[in-house]
Amino acid sequence: MAKEGPMDQEKLLYFRGLLEGRLHALLEEAEKTVSGMGQEAEGDFPDPNDRASFESDRNFVLRIRDRERKLIAKVKEALARIDDGTFGICETCGKPISEKRLMARPVTTECIDCKTEAEKKERLARMRGPRPRSGFPS
Ligand SMILES: [Zn+2]
Repeated sequence: MAKEGPMDQEKLLYFRGLLEGRLHALLEEAEKTVSGMGQEAEGDFPDPNDRASFESDRNFVLRIRDRERKLIAKVKEALARIDDGTFGICETCGKPISEKRLMARPVTTECIDCKTEAEKKERLARMRGPRPRSGFPS
């Protein structure tokens, strides 16, 4: 029989598939972005305006890559949590995260209550100004 866990094996398999599919799509996307950038970088720039627009395109690409990198890291972390058996457990309160929430956001690490609470605190902190780097382990 499957080992005891917070979530049954069948569901874990489902989420693993979901996450692996997402990881695959992200890696493919990242590769496209990177190879596209390689081609551009090899071109020459007879017109300084072309050069300028290339530079801003490049910044755009770098931003996207940063976003992709973060997403890829999140998906990998979620897969690691499936492996170590902590997937679907809120890292803040230790309670199970609802399946509906996991379905919509399989990379999430917090239950909806903690997430809502965190967002509330964040909003308050933003109103008060820059928040001190303490308290929140993330
Ligand atoms: Zn929680």
